[in-house]
Amino acid sequence: MLIPAALSSFLPLSLLTPRLGDSSQSYNATCKHIARSISYASDVYYPGSLNFINGTQHWVPSSSQVSACSVEPGTVQDVSAIIRSGGHATTLGFSSTLGVIINLIRLNSLTYDPVSSTATLGTGLTWDQVYQKLEPYEVNVVGGRTIGIGIGGLVLGGGYSWLSNRHGLSIDTVTGFELVLPNGTVVDVTASSAPDLFFGLKGGYNNFGLVTKITMRTYKQGLVWGGLIDYTGDNINKANAALVNFSATNVLPDANCVLHIIFSEGIPRASLILFYNDPTPPAGLFSDFLGITSSSSSLSTRTFLNFIVGTSRDSLNPSHLRGTLSTVSVPDITVPVVNEYYSTPGVFSSAPSVAFSFEPFIGCSIIDTQNAAAFQYDTFGTPLLLFFAWPNATEDAAGFSAIKMATTAITQAVINDGQDLSDTVLYPNYALGDTPLESLYGANVPILKSLRFKYDPTGIFLNTGGFKFV
Ligand SMILES: Cc1cc2nc3c(=O)[nH]c(=O)nc-3n(C[C@H](O)[C@H](O)[C@H](O)COP(=O)(O)OP(=O)(O)OC[C@H]3O[C@@H](n4cnc5c(N)ncnc54)[C@H](O)[C@@H]3O)c2cc1C
Repeated sequence: MLIPAALSSFLPLSLLTPRLGDSSQSYNATCKHIARSISYASDVYYPGSLNFINGTQHWVPSSSQVSACSVEPGTVQDVSAIIRSGGHATTLGFSSTLGVIINLIRLNSLTYDPVSSTATLGTGLTWDQVYQKLEPYEVNVVGGRTIGIGIGGLVLGGGYSWLSNRHGLSIDTVTGFELVLPNGTVVDVTASSAPDLFFGLKGGYNNFGLVTKITMRTYKQGLVWGGLIDYTGDNINKANAALVNFSATNVLPDANCVLHIIFSEGIPRASLILFYNDPTPPAGLFSDFLGITSSSSSLSTRTFLNFIVGTSRDSLNPSHLRGTLSTVSVPDITVPVVNEYYSTPGVFSSAPSVAFSFEPFIGCSIIDTQNAAAFQYDTFGTPLLLFFAWPNATEDAAGFSAIKMATTAITQAVINDGQDLSDTVLYPNYALGDTPLESLYGANVPILKSLRFKYDPTGIFLNTGGFKFV
């Protein structure tokens, strides 16, 4: 029996408990039922308490709802008795609910096994916490590029990392999941123990249950080189040109960058992050960027964790505005595509913040060729990211409409540039919440629907938010 629920690694999943009708009264009764069912390792929190506030807030407030209660399970058995992550979903309802939110924050263990070169991560951790815990072992995993993002959402949706040019997406490096199935059974999912679930969880989010631990391959990690550079005025166009050139010519798997073009009240600036996975980049590698006059720069040799913290100043949403992400998949970042990005903000020129991000990954082919994944990202080059933000709920409709127009305009610019998008899928972790399943999972949709039905025949997890295989 169920009520609407939400799951989040740092913040909100949705929930499974006695269904007493979809009213606040029934939600409260469900909260009390959970409080009676769980052990002393776990707790239920109500509106007004600090744990409740921490457990329901999001990176964008437009993704938050006031739940009846927030549950913090402390053991997998208690998860099993109930059935939340990092709260970076930018769609209302993906990790929020009026019902019961499950906050995984107590599932924060990390173990490193040097023999198998793997680390097992509790899904209540955020990526910066993971990097901090792994630093003493001088190893790393393929994870998120910003502080505060949860393990659960990022890995279960794909996972683009600073290490992806060399090791693939996070899902390529997963060797096992600990999963609480919708019927409450706890299962260890590996390529050999449950190949269908192993396939489904690599892109399929919460459709098959709640993931409590993820085991990932580890890689040697030493000092890295990189930091943030800001450009303004005419230098933005020069940065755009340098990006197109870098995207076309870089073949080094240890090198990457992200260029954010951010319009604040219509005024543009460029925020560039450079990364090289070694203390010193090869001479000349980033010279196009470094030759442009910048307004600030923080390039240095540092630890990976210091690099992540230092480049996570949250420039995309410093004021915690409402908003949403969107994406376009592009084989190649070219001059016409970049120009369209640069001219598109006209559709939402009054917005306090409109951002377009280029992430020039080296043509991503599937690295884990042995094991197929629900998210087939090898059919495109790189995801372009859009982020539109606004202060008031009354502007939600205009904001969502504007980002859809911008997404359509950029998609058309890519097609007009002669690039073939017929087989491309969109990256689920960046996609708008109403994106059709076919646009995300392509030919895998029927397989994923039957897999969902096999493991959740009564649709318990359909009560959780996100892309649903129905
Ligand atoms: C500032 C920012 C930076 C980002 N950087 C990156 C990046 O470097 N690379 C990248 O690939 N993406 C990035 N993203 C996108 C990010 O991957 C998605 O927003 C992702 O969904 C966030 O995961 P979360 O756990 O924090 O979110 P949540 O909102 O907590 O969860 C997202 C979804 O996953 C489900 N879920 C979460 N945990 C579990 C679990 N344990 N079991 C089952 N289901 C679960 C939730 O129910 C929800 O539907 C970024 C987003 C933002 C806003």
